[in-house]
Amino acid sequence: MKTYKIAAIPGDGIGTEVIAAGVEAMNALAKRDGSFSFTFDHFDWGGEYYKKHGRMMPENGRDQIRHHDAILFGSAGHPDIPDHITLWGLRLAICQPFDQYANVRPTRILPGITSPLRHVKDKELDWVIVRENSEGEYAGVGGRVHQGSRLEAATDVSMFTRVGVERVMRFAFALARSRPRKLLTVVTKSNAQRHAMVMWDEIAVAVAKEFPDVTWDKMLVDAMTMRMVMRPQSIDTVVATNLHADILSDLAAALAGSLGIAPTGNINPERTFPSMFEPIHGSAFDIMGKGIANPIGTFWSAVMLLEHLGEAKAASRLMSAIERVTADPRFHTPDLGGRARTADVTAAIIDAIQGANE
Ligand code: NAD
Ligand code: MN
Repeated sequence: MKTYKIAAIPGDGIGTEVIAAGVEAMNALAKRDGSFSFTFDHFDWGGEYYKKHGRMMPENGRDQIRHHDAILFGSAGHPDIPDHITLWGLRLAICQPFDQYANVRPTRILPGITSPLRHVKDKELDWVIVRENSEGEYAGVGGRVHQGSRLEAATDVSMFTRVGVERVMRFAFALARSRPRKLLTVVTKSNAQRHAMVMWDEIAVAVAKEFPDVTWDKMLVDAMTMRMVMRPQSIDTVVATNLHADILSDLAAALAGSLGIAPTGNINPERTFPSMFEPIHGSAFDIMGKGIANPIGTFWSAVMLLEHLGEAKAASRLMSAIERVTADPRFHTPDLGGRARTADVTAAIIDAIQGANE
């Protein structure tokens, strides 16, 4: 029997609550399938670890997870520690060195979930956003001088490389081609940002020639927010820079009903390193420890993890279980207007897994 080694990194806040739920669901799924199993290695990295050790993960942390088949991640973010330390010390410290350059974010309105957009029904919003995940605005280039004095200056420099842009464009065109509509929107801001974004656009034109069967268009990021709200049916696959897609995908998640549902995969397409799957939400300080975090985003991330491992049958079994559970308002957590608790939703998912496809 095939055994997949998964590194579980819950991080902080509700990360610990939703990852515990995800591990339970994945074990139930493996048991139901019978042809594979998981071994989970749990890593207590994050804010509490930082308070003890002065860093978010051990110096050889990446070596400890380099040979796992995949990483299941919760959230980096602690109420007592500045966000740039938790983010750069853990999540980005894994994504960037592991070259997980394609951040894939599907968005759909699941059964039983109401979009805040009036008149939009489930099938009319079905998107995948590909976020460049290795450079751009989050390259980490820049600095501060004369800190605290009146002369202080600070820069964050966007860094775009031809290799970096080409590979994410190619990934997005290929993903668009794999979906029924074969439709891609390239998001840009080349009117105001006249260097890197112009190169971004030129590379899109060049890569598009390799994909003559994909219909694509170009959209300025500000206009894209409007299109997402006004004409969601006109969108299928989207590719955008690190910053632009970060923002657009939170909007996408909200338009699909809740941030608590949205999944993501940080993919290293060459499989030189493990890829990392996580709900897109953060530590949610306002609800942590209350047992009401919506675990659906983590379950859907587990679907992406299974697809990445090639377990298509188990992935679709889990996705059907998710859809059956969201369709029933008894299993809606407070973010969806319901009263269910994390444990109720998890139990319902496990029930649905056990019943699925019988
Ligand atoms: P957040 O996603 O933690 O929360 C935003 C809002 O959405 C909150 O009201 C929260 O209660 C709600 N929410 C989020 N997930 C939910 C879920 N599963 N169920 C129910 N409600 C949910 O974003 P924030 O408040 O901007 O950030 C809090 C901390 O998390 C910060 O430290 C931030 O840096 C960190 N963060 C980390 C990641 C990551 O590691 N990938 C992503 C985003 C934010
Ligand atoms: Mn974000």
